[in-house]
Amino acid sequence: MIHQQQQEFDIQQEQLWKEYKKNIREKSETKRLEKNSKNLERARNKLNKRRRWLNKYKISKGCYSCGYNENHKALCFSFDEKNLKKVTTVVNRSLKTLFYHIRKSKVSCFNCVQIKKGTNNGNNR
Ligand SMILES: [Zn+2]
Repeated sequence: MIHQQQQEFDIQQEQLWKEYKKNIREKSETKRLEKNSKNLERARNKLNKRRRWLNKYKISKGCYSCGYNENHKALCFSFDEKNLKKVTTVVNRSLKTLFYHIRKSKVSCFNCVQIKKGTNNGNNR
C-alpha cells in the first residue's frame, strides 16, 4: 500500500516537473519571439529612415543632367562603373558602404537614364 502511494506521488511529481519545464520553454520561446520582432522593427525603422533620407538627398541634388528635382520617385542613382552595386541594394549595409556608393553615383532622372542608355548603345533614333 505504501509502495503504491509512493508510486502515485512519483508520477505526480514527474507530471509537475514536466509542466514546469514546458512552461519555462514556452516563456523563453515567447521572449525570443518578442526580441526578434523588436529587432525586426528596429531594422525596419532604420531602413525606412535611410530610404527617406535618400529620397530627400535625391531631391536636394536633382538630376545632374537636366536638373529635374520635383519627385524622388522619378530620380535614381546612376553610375558608370560596372563593379558598383545599386545604391538601393546597399541601403541596409554599413554607412561607409552606403556613402561610398552614393559618392560614386550620380542622381539622375529616369528620362536622362533612358536617353543616356540609348546614346551609349549607339541607337539614337
Ligand atoms: Zn534628367
